[in-house]
Amino acid sequence: MSASVVAAALRDRQSFILTSHARPDGDAIGSQLALALALRALGKNVRLINKDSIPAQYRHFPGVGGIEFAPQATGPADAVVTLECSDISRPGVAGLDRYFVVNIDHHLGNEMYGAVNWFDASAASCTEMVADVIDALGVKWTRDIAKHLYLGIATDTGGFRHGPISARTFEVCRRIAETGAEPAAMAREIFDSFGIGRVKLTGEMLSRMELHHDGRLAVLEFDDALLARCGATIDDTEGLVNLPLGANEVLAVALFKRQADGSCRVSLRSKPAVDVRGVASKWGGGGHRNAAGATLAGSIEELKAAVVAELEHAIDAAGDAAKFA
Ligand code: 5GP
Ligand code: MN
Repeated sequence: MSASVVAAALRDRQSFILTSHARPDGDAIGSQLALALALRALGKNVRLINKDSIPAQYRHFPGVGGIEFAPQATGPADAVVTLECSDISRPGVAGLDRYFVVNIDHHLGNEMYGAVNWFDASAASCTEMVADVIDALGVKWTRDIAKHLYLGIATDTGGFRHGPISARTFEVCRRIAETGAEPAAMAREIFDSFGIGRVKLTGEMLSRMELHHDGRLAVLEFDDALLARCGATIDDTEGLVNLPLGANEVLAVALFKRQADGSCRVSLRSKPAVDVRGVASKWGGGGHRNAAGATLAGSIEELKAAVVAELEHAIDAAGDAAKFA
């Protein structure tokens, strides 16, 4: 499959529901909106349906206000397009399987659940794939489309730090800049427009950081009480999991969040040699080799010990390669 096959399926149809994964990140939103803007430019009818609200720092991106929030997809549509979703349950929106599904994703382990599937793990972001689909549709990139393409690339690569960043990534970025979208201004919107609560939370979380395995594994944790004390929101936590990777010796990070319902979310990040997707998948989660996550049931102390043990194995498995990664 390729962008042209996807584009043919889209061109043949008139009405669409676009969705992306629960707790959307920059790439989920950027992919959804860039494709929505392109399809609307062709006169198509597009609805955007998500389970979860949009992080505050992305809410002013073009078209984001038009996203509907619903636990279920209803109403007529010639196709559903899932962006960034390795399986049909990732959106957390029920009823998607009743539609003709077009699946566009870059997560390893994609279950190819659509009627049309385009999976490309060599893409740094899903928006890099959407860029190809928009070209195959013959739609000219507007500045608004370009902003969403950039949102996905900038966030999924952690500001051009990780993932399969390639010449293709920079070619997409070159064309984004050509539309007049300004990379430095977008970086400020994406990375530097949080509340002061985030800065306070950063201090609190880092001061409680645990180091394991000779300092090669960092463990962070927060809960709603800590957020409240710092005057921070869940949106303010975006990307904080990456901070310990700033130390040369830290090869992997786990960030735990106690949920109100007693479950626990874990976000995992690593340097290239360490595979954390395999760790997340042990608890039914997924993601990428160096950025993955899962939702866990059970007591946080036991889960923490089990996840730490698995991460230590993953670091050991990386062996000498990790030293040079
Ligand atoms: P984050 O830690 O930012 O929530 O997620 C990091 C990466 O892992 C993202 O690519 C995200 O889509 C993926 N991911 C996070 N949680 C889950 C999960 O529960 N299931 C799957 N399949 N992927 C996840
Ligand atoms: Mn992505």
